[in-house]
Amino acid sequence: MMVEPKLLPSKLPPIRKPEGSGEQQALAWAHTARFLTTASQLDQLPVTDLPEIAFVGRSNAGKSTAINRLAQQNRLAFASRTPGRTQHINLFEVGPRDKPNALFADLPGYGYAAVERGAKLRWQQVMADYLQLRRSLTGIVLMIDSRLGFTDLDHQLLRFMSQRTANGVVKLLVLLTKADKLNRSQAAAALRSGNMVLAQAATGESDVSVSLFSALKRDGVGEAAAVLHRWVGLTDASAAKDRLAARSSHDSNI
Ligand code: GDP
Repeated sequence: MMVEPKLLPSKLPPIRKPEGSGEQQALAWAHTARFLTTASQLDQLPVTDLPEIAFVGRSNAGKSTAINRLAQQNRLAFASRTPGRTQHINLFEVGPRDKPNALFADLPGYGYAAVERGAKLRWQQVMADYLQLRRSLTGIVLMIDSRLGFTDLDHQLLRFMSQRTANGVVKLLVLLTKADKLNRSQAAAALRSGNMVLAQAATGESDVSVSLFSALKRDGVGEAAAVLHRWVGLTDASAAKDRLAARSSHDSNI
């Protein structure tokens, strides 16, 4: 059963940024996100040419809260009170209603200990397949609890996607969530170790970055929206070419 997440204390009015700033435009764009559909298997996902940005992370990493904060909507992404139980890929459309220009995909949180082993393995496979095969996948936002850092499962996930992130066809943004819980030196250390992990995945062609994020304090929200907006802005001829090239090397129909 989908239930509302425990909401952070504050409501989510649109975030005000200086007129005309890239972040303001990006936030206005993210604010248009609306639910499209849900899928429990990859072949239920719509085949689309829209660039898709996937949100992934361990249960309780703050993924739903981050999506809601990015979209400046209280109830866009739902978290289950029983983490790990929302075993569906939820898709959201973004951009003008009559001409959406991107999709956000909220993937189920992983690593919740109480999930039965069979279900866990099935979902790991769905995630691996999604990350390796989804043709329209343009970028991945990986949520890491800044107090916990990267766990084995997070490393595994990075490995699943490494082939596609290494050549820049799929971009990667790591958000170190709940940064408000860290003091300055802890925050600096979290960022340093995030950068070290990503350095292993970075190549001359890749587009990977890491930043501190607090839904509570709204730190890093505009910057994150701007990154996603830039990824999607790459829907010009050269990006279309990139996607075509990616498509021909991944002969899948999901
Ligand atoms: P999900 O399972 O990854 O979707 O995680 P949720 O978004 O449900 O968040 C898990 C818990 O972390 C909830 O209790 C949130 O209120 C809390 N949380 C999420 N983001 C933040 C944040 O930026 N700061 C703080 N202090 N708590 C947060």
